[in-house]
Amino acid sequence: MTIHIIKKTLGLVLLSMSTLQLSAQDIIAHQASADKQMKDISTIKAHKIINNTNLNNPATNVYTNWDNASVNSVAGAVPSNFKIDLRGFCMPTPSRVVTSKFGYRWHRQHQGLDIKVYVGDTIRAAFDGKIRVVKYDGNGYGNYVVIRHPNGLETLYGHMSKTLVRPDQIVKAGQVIGLGGNTGRSTGSHLHFETRLAGKAIDPSLLFDFPNQDIVSDYYIYRGEKIQKEARTSASALASVANDQNNLESALEAAEKKSTTNSRRNTASRKVAQNKSKSKSKSYTVKKGDTLYSIAKKNGMSVKELCKKNGIKQSAKIRAGQTLKC
Ligand SMILES: [Zn+2]
Repeated sequence: MTIHIIKKTLGLVLLSMSTLQLSAQDIIAHQASADKQMKDISTIKAHKIINNTNLNNPATNVYTNWDNASVNSVAGAVPSNFKIDLRGFCMPTPSRVVTSKFGYRWHRQHQGLDIKVYVGDTIRAAFDGKIRVVKYDGNGYGNYVVIRHPNGLETLYGHMSKTLVRPDQIVKAGQVIGLGGNTGRSTGSHLHFETRLAGKAIDPSLLFDFPNQDIVSDYYIYRGEKIQKEARTSASALASVANDQNNLESALEAAEKKSTTNSRRNTASRKVAQNKSKSKSKSYTVKKGDTLYSIAKKNGMSVKELCKKNGIKQSAKIRAGQTLKC
């Protein structure tokens, strides 16, 4: 009976110990994830603080001007190798349906993505930013909004039934900027969404994954201009090499012309040197059936010359695969 009680108690102790262990593990795991979460939140907060400081004057590293007049009045060149921070994004619409891609379409360039939305659907700012353009273009974008963001991007939202922001207004990522519609050059309600860097349209699907309602990655590195620049650099490098060669040749020519006597001597000695180097560089691999005589004949020399060059006697035996100077 006593033994039974001890067994029972031991069993309970062991059970409670394992429970304790499990809950301890849970606590540790929970703490770890909480720490990580805190870290993430503080990163986002820090990131937002940085962004907020620039919201009145976003992306001055890319843009030198600010106007409310047109989509593309950007002064200055598109930066090369530009890193765009896409964190802190918000999908402009929860719609996952891309009805038209970026690129060449109907004999004209389609500068954005078409996303299926219905009239009255909420359209949101993709990032924190400052509203640059709020306009109506009956032959094009319809009711549209352009926002400049601190990450360097400008986003455009077209064909909306209504715009709900005013120029120079500061907006947060996810803030409602308008309602889906079918205004301007549009057949069927949809959102025309563009992403531009210094006026240069970038395929939004390289940044935003609408079907998965996510960004493609945390950063997008724009390299378009760099490639062109590199091509230009290599072309100019080639040109300069060509120039150097021309210069060298003309310098040699000039040196030769300087003194006729010297020139003649130089030319003569150069010819000798050339012949020497020619004779030095030539080698012959002996084939099956070759004789010293046949090799000499093939190479336009006498057997005596051949033997002298190779430091061998005329009676020397040669074998296939052996290399001889000729
Ligand atoms: Zn479109």
